[in-house]
Amino acid sequence: MGAPGAGKGTQAGALADRYGVPAISTGDIFRHNIKNETPLGLKVKAIIEAGDYVPDETTEEIVADRLREPDCAPGFLLDGFPRTMHQVRFLDRYLAEQGAALDAVVSLHVDPEALVERLLDRAQKEGRADDNEETIRRRMEVYAGQTAPLLSYYEDEGLLVEVDGTGSVDEVRQRMFDQLDERRP
Ligand code: AMP
Repeated sequence: MGAPGAGKGTQAGALADRYGVPAISTGDIFRHNIKNETPLGLKVKAIIEAGDYVPDETTEEIVADRLREPDCAPGFLLDGFPRTMHQVRFLDRYLAEQGAALDAVVSLHVDPEALVERLLDRAQKEGRADDNEETIRRRMEVYAGQTAPLLSYYEDEGLLVEVDGTGSVDEVRQRMFDQLDERRP
């Protein structure tokens, strides 16, 4: 977890490689569908470009379909999901049905001022349609309102690993690995 621009996508890849599990990014799945103009893509394009969240039911269905694929059997890393309390409850239910549980919830924390800078920089480099200043501000608001409260839920569950997301990609990755190693039984 982490606010837009906190480095979720970058660090998710590193984490998934380390544990040999697939990284599942709902944002990437949506972007792929938008690019290919699938019915899902057409449905979510305007929502994502405005910086709002795709409806829970739609997002949950996509995650459930993906988690049923055989490569997820040994484990998986979710990047950008869950983002609402509804999605948290869905995931808890889904995992309970499978007799599985989360090992950890990693949250990357970066000062909000630095985030806008990072995102505007990414906009120039990657050209993501939702990386313009107005949408960035909206995404920050939505994160603060809908997703930040999930951190206290996972903290109460004893799953939260809060990582300082400032510094180079390598520094943050090492910090995250070290903190996860400390948790190992
Ligand atoms: P991301 O790449 O994770 O920043 O996601 C990009 C955009 O996709 C978000 O700003 C949302 O519009 C949408 N999205 C991704 N994951 C979710 C989710 N779990 N729930 C709702 N919308 C999502």
